[in-house]
Amino acid sequence: MEVKRSEKDREFVDKVEELSGESVNACIRCGTCSAGCPFVKEMDVLPERIFKRVVLGDKEGILEKNTMWICAACYTCSVRCPRDIDIASIMEAVRQIVLRDNVDKVEVEEVENLQDLPQLAVVGCFRKETG
Ligand code: SF4
Ligand code: SF4
Repeated sequence: MEVKRSEKDREFVDKVEELSGESVNACIRCGTCSAGCPFVKEMDVLPERIFKRVVLGDKEGILEKNTMWICAACYTCSVRCPRDIDIASIMEAVRQIVLRDNVDKVEVEEVENLQDLPQLAVVGCFRKETG
């Protein structure tokens, strides 16, 4: 599927493809990725819809939704995609791009009893919540 994009949107798609090693244009919108995702009930929109926004280069539209942060990188969608698109890696690429913008939503100083929390849980939390 070829899509017309602005230069800014094209740059976003190019970056996603570079980081994930996947081609977003291979999607045929079959919805299999959403059907197999174990976390769709918690997501604002289905993974398939996020994928469509990635194809369009709509970074802002992706950021409006919680889907990429709810995604647990379980790779079910990647295994089931009939076009062999590694959607989990694309989700991760989008997260990385957002994280690189260095817009923090969590202030470390404001987390209560930080020293009492398991280190792995803290790292996991900030990995998902930063951006
Ligand atoms: S399963 Fe693959 S081809 Fe189908 S909608 Fe999802 S990304 Fe596109
Ligand atoms: S990798 Fe993410 S989007 Fe894909 S099935 Fe797992 S939780 Fe859902």
